Amino acid sequence: LYNMLQEVRGNIRVYCRIRPLNSESISSIEHIGNDGSIMVCDPFKAQNTRKIFQFNKTFGPTTTQDEVYMETQSLIRSVMDGYNVCIFAYGQTGSGKTHTMCGPSGGLSSNNLGINYMALNDLFTISTSREDMKYDMRVQMVEIYNEQVRDLLSEDTSSTKLDIRTSTNGLFNIPDAKMCPVQSPSDVMNLMLLGEKHRASGPTTMNNRSSRSHSILTVHVNGKDMSGNVSCSCLHLVDLAGSERVDRSEATGDRLKEAQHINKSLSCLGDVITALAQKNSHIPYRNSKLTQLLQSSLGGNAKTLMLAHISPEGESYVETLSTLKFAQRVSTV
Ligand code: ADP
Ligand code: MG
Repeated sequence: LYNMLQEVRGNIRVYCRIRPLNSESISSIEHIGNDGSIMVCDPFKAQNTRKIFQFNKTFGPTTTQDEVYMETQSLIRSVMDGYNVCIFAYGQTGSGKTHTMCGPSGGLSSNNLGINYMALNDLFTISTSREDMKYDMRVQMVEIYNEQVRDLLSEDTSSTKLDIRTSTNGLFNIPDAKMCPVQSPSDVMNLMLLGEKHRASGPTTMNNRSSRSHSILTVHVNGKDMSGNVSCSCLHLVDLAGSERVDRSEATGDRLKEAQHINKSLSCLGDVITALAQKNSHIPYRNSKLTQLLQSSLGGNAKTLMLAHISPEGESYVETLSTLKFAQRVSTV
């Protein structure tokens, strides 16, 4: 039924998540509707700046990790039926992307685990419980920083720059990124810990470690039914780099270069989604590493979910508005 509903509504869904307000700040969130609407305003402007946006769902600051996962679970599970699925977390640095995908401050020590962990565990449980199908699950985890792809699961830290290749079926892949089989729940945890450790120790460690790189966790699922039919699909779980605009007058050198790469890849993502919506014959996947890697799970029969993250503080109003507008553009496709 879920797949049927998706077909009717189009293949891209957008959820908005608002994290709790930092104490002593004034909120820019006026109202969150049960219907997925959100009303924002600039609390520092005297005149009325109210704006309303409408998404498939909007999660307020008290929404738990489990509640968010429950709303993504059926989409994630459809990868076991052969669909390609992509979930990406978008928003400015500090808005809660890593919290949603990995857990509090990316830490796996707490019980507030994120979508990545819950998804892998869920898929693993399904793969071992179904009697009509035999599954094989393998995981890759990479980071894109300044248009360079780095393996997060390889112990070999010299493998900094991985190549993206085109395979025989026309899809992009990264043959040299380590592919790890998942055979138990503890495998899942160990992979997460390894990826997290490497993300923290790479070139993006210098101030605000991961906010300027995209991290992509890919689950490859191969299924075989009783009569020997084979299906192949993948799930991409993406924690994007911070979407904030960097002040050109202030950023120089490496910081400016990073900002330009991020702007480019995020706008390429928007372009691909728009081109898909307009059913263009040419979809510009090639324009960034991010869209190349996500190609198989954007467009076609793939199911895509954008999680737009909002920092509710009035000081973040400009970025909040820009995130909501980007999300709106995606949701109307
Ligand atoms: P981002 O990855 O977008 O830069 P983080 O996930 O690191 O942002 O979140 C910034 C801070 O806010 C972290 O300390 C995180 O634990 C906290 N935080 C984010 N979302 C929530 C939430 N829904 N509930 C409680 N704390 C949150
Ligand atoms: Mg983060």
